[in-house]
Amino acid sequence: MDTGNESQKKISWVKWDYVCYSKEKGGLRVSDLRRKNWALLGKWWYWFGDGVESLWKWIVKEKYYGGKWEEVDITAVGNWRTSKIWRDIISIGGRSMRLRNMLVEGFKWDVGEGNQVGFWRERWIGNKTLRDLCPRLFELSTNKACNISDMGVWEGDKWCWKVEWRRARIGREKDEEEVLWEVLDSFPLKKGVEDCWRWIHDSDGSYGVKKAYDFLAPTKRVLEEQLCKLIWCKLVPSKVFFFGWRLCLDRLPTKWNITKRGVHLQEEELICVLCNDMVEEANHLFSMCKEAWILWVEVLQWWGMVTIMPNNALGVVDIFVNDLGRIIGKEMGACIFLVVSWYLWYWRNGKVFNNGNNIRGRLMDMVQAKSFF
Ligand SMILES: [Zn+2]
Repeated sequence: MDTGNESQKKISWVKWDYVCYSKEKGGLRVSDLRRKNWALLGKWWYWFGDGVESLWKWIVKEKYYGGKWEEVDITAVGNWRTSKIWRDIISIGGRSMRLRNMLVEGFKWDVGEGNQVGFWRERWIGNKTLRDLCPRLFELSTNKACNISDMGVWEGDKWCWKVEWRRARIGREKDEEEVLWEVLDSFPLKKGVEDCWRWIHDSDGSYGVKKAYDFLAPTKRVLEEQLCKLIWCKLVPSKVFFFGWRLCLDRLPTKWNITKRGVHLQEEELICVLCNDMVEEANHLFSMCKEAWILWVEVLQWWGMVTIMPNNALGVVDIFVNDLGRIIGKEMGACIFLVVSWYLWYWRNGKVFNNGNNIRGRLMDMVQAKSFF
């Protein structure tokens, strides 16, 4: 069934994002490849930062970072020497707040004995590295590349911090030292516990591509929650469902919608072809149009239902799913709504494109056949 001519086909009717929204948010749950790619790159981040030395990390650091693994700042965009894939991986955290939240802020060290975590250069306490928190002290440190476990000793089960400096602290260095001790004193290491790299958005701390994909899902919705429940119907073919989805979003190429998207129509061309009376827009065509109204009423009369028809298409959905749904089940109610609107549109197209599909006389038979009655 063709719903438009060539110029209409060039109009993008539904934002691609909407198609990728979850079913619960009113989308079509089509896999979002960009989001999936981000979630996959996130997995590299997870491995990249987990503190476990392995051959591939060694190769990457030798190749791209001059052998200084501890100098790799995973929050920064890689330099020109970095390969495309590594640049993608490293820069991904800077793309959007949500990605930043997922990756840069999303991974934290859960420090045990501290032998995998860099004391100065990694974020393990609060949201900053100690190098950023106390830059003057970092310069004074005798061991800039050390791990946390190098900065103290166990006395029995008690961890005692021992930080060594090149010289005595003066001026602002003393202020920084005060801050540092405050931070360290409030952070006891855990004897016998391994450091572990955790993803804070998961209760057990592990990163998963599926979990990240869901985490990155848009938070707003395409259709109202109520309508999502009403419209999802497994009884109709997908093309009919897709049509109904566009109808609920008001993204069908009605004459009114076409003009809104810049296709110029004369005033008389805007008129509904069924009643030749009003401007053709979705709320007219699928509820208030007197020709459509006769069809809706005929359909409802099968079940002896008499009702006042609402003045908008979503109101008609409500009548079929909720009121008629009480008699025949919500899913069947949704199915009949979708089938009737589909044929209504089919009938309308026959008239608009004058392709001989004037099916008004057969409409009820067609609806009944497709609704499995
Ligand atoms: Zn009309």
